[in-house]
Amino acid sequence: MSDLHVYDTTLRDGAQQEGLNLSVSDKLAIAGHLDELGVGYIEGGWPGANPKDTEFFQRAAQELSLRNATLAAFGATRRAGGNAADDPLVRALVDSGASVVTLVAKSHAGHVERALRTTLAENLEMIRDTVSFLRSEGRRVFLDAEHFFDGYAVNRAYALEAVRAAVESGAEVVALCDTNGGMLPSRVSDVVADVLDATSARLGIHCHNDTGCAVANSMAAVDAGATHVQGTINGYGERTGNADLLTVVSNLQLKQGLDLLEPARLREATHIAHAIAEVTNVPPYSRQPYVGASAFAHKAGLHASAIKVDPDLYQHIDPMLVGNDMRMLVSDMAGRASIELKGKELGFDLSGEAELLSRILSKVKDLELRGYTFDAADASFELLLRREVEGDGVHDYFDVESWRVITDARGEENALSEATVKVVAGGNRVVATGEGNGPVNALDHALRQALVPAYPELDKLELIDFRVRILDAAHGTDAVTRVLIETSDGQTSWETIGVAGNIVEASWQALVEGVTYGLVRAGVPVR
Ligand SMILES: [Zn+2]
Repeated sequence: MSDLHVYDTTLRDGAQQEGLNLSVSDKLAIAGHLDELGVGYIEGGWPGANPKDTEFFQRAAQELSLRNATLAAFGATRRAGGNAADDPLVRALVDSGASVVTLVAKSHAGHVERALRTTLAENLEMIRDTVSFLRSEGRRVFLDAEHFFDGYAVNRAYALEAVRAAVESGAEVVALCDTNGGMLPSRVSDVVADVLDATSARLGIHCHNDTGCAVANSMAAVDAGATHVQGTINGYGERTGNADLLTVVSNLQLKQGLDLLEPARLREATHIAHAIAEVTNVPPYSRQPYVGASAFAHKAGLHASAIKVDPDLYQHIDPMLVGNDMRMLVSDMAGRASIELKGKELGFDLSGEAELLSRILSKVKDLELRGYTFDAADASFELLLRREVEGDGVHDYFDVESWRVITDARGEENALSEATVKVVAGGNRVVATGEGNGPVNALDHALRQALVPAYPELDKLELIDFRVRILDAAHGTDAVTRVLIETSDGQTSWETIGVAGNIVEASWQALVEGVTYGLVRAGVPVR
């Protein structure tokens, strides 16, 4: 494998995107996906400066078992005139427990004087002191040189001095940041080459997309000798976003032959990009390179018959390399392979079951056409698979006779919902009601109330997250609502999905799936 660092900053810089709001649980879920993808480093946030990020690092230590990635804590150099060892924000970086600390530092003389309001000499001292202190605490240190390219243009000597100060104090990597995103590839390439010449630094690159060149600039930096590349999944980030890490990595690996990710992990790229989009609740961009739904879609007619003869004539790579699929063509290879893989994880050997795999795949495709997505709803996918493999009746824990929910408000009081659910479970017909501050909440209470006599195991389940997306009308149908629900048993959590024209109906489907999966997971027999 190449020793180039693949450094993801979705959880820190990506989370700066307008309208994107991540809870600590969301961040943990994304970190899990990033690890599955095989990135080297996951920047988790800024502990100390942001309470959510402090909590993220605490919970990550308990709840995440990373197989590939190393967590990095992000923070700034110490305050001017102070002492790194006594600076509470620097101390918080050590306390986060992260073995890598990425320090942001000024390298632009104008920013030192006008934004930081200190002297050029003191800024260098801040870099030296903070890097040395973190090194003495046993941390690996990467330094993000903020506004580097703009600073280099104004005062090259000073920008280089900042890099040298970091390296001489023990920083392992200095990432040159195009913070304002205004660079072009030829310029990035020249500057990286010059900095490599003038210092002994290992260089990294951090690009924003304001000129539409974030990916190209990152590639240019690597061509010029940078060996650490930063970016975000789906190019999330403020303004026009950061470099899309999956595009950069796919380019470097598939076009330039660098071994960054194991091929099997790169084949998860499309799945992971979409799974993360479900967590962020930002609709995926269909024309996204490599992983977009349209990335290998061909218009019917002229191309279609030629593609059947030789797909390579009309596409720049085999879409399976990034887990995508060519559309308009019967090419179910990628889909079948991933179903087989998932089956294996669940203990089913489906390798010789071509017919079964095709049946499951066509079911998945049919549901996806209707608005389902299984990238984020792992539990619903597992139930679908189990129903096909083990037979329909195996997980029929209860029959729903009917459900209804009403919501009313009186005067100035908050609206309240009340649900009634009628089920047959454990041989008995049960009618139960539940209240809640919303219809889904009320239905959840009523459903579990009705089932607990037969299945007391459900008592500890809790609905912990609920996400709604309205899907555009397509193919002559009306718009539909997709609901993803996250259910927890106190130890782990799982996602289920429902799709319907009516938001409450979609939620009900996802609730029923969530409860059913809870029983399957706990190994409860049908009673
Ligand atoms: Zn940035």
